[in-house]
Amino acid sequence: MKNDCLFCAIAAGEIPSSKVYEDEICYAFYDIDPQAPVHFLVIPKEHIASVAGIDGSNSAVVAHIFEVIARVTKEKNIESYRVVSNIGEQAGQSVPHLHFHVLSGRDMTWPPG
Ligand code: 5GP
Ligand code: ZN
Repeated sequence: MKNDCLFCAIAAGEIPSSKVYEDEICYAFYDIDPQAPVHFLVIPKEHIASVAGIDGSNSAVVAHIFEVIARVTKEKNIESYRVVSNIGEQAGQSVPHLHFHVLSGRDMTWPPG
């Protein structure tokens, strides 16, 4: 756990959030400022700054997160959805702890803005 990291604190339960799913590797919770009728985030419990911090030592965590996304969306009968991860300021990353947005429940535009 990294000091002063908002999502490390959320994963540890130190800051309250609305839980979607949890296991020993990852934590999923609803976004505080939803951009679609369904909008939750899936984060590793381990601190990784962004996709740019994924390497051979931690990529299994990412495979696990995608497995969780596939399972949780199926359980919620969500058939169509978008998974997004912003890397760096210009792409819109505001929290420097790896997270995957799962968005659903409305038409999506392409390309993203
Ligand atoms: P980013 O902008 O880094 O791609 O995504 C960060 C996301 O975290 C944003 O969608 C933002 O609404 C969400 N967020 C920021 N602070 C909190 C918080 O304290 N609780 C929850 N549930 N979501 C948060
Ligand atoms: Zn963190």
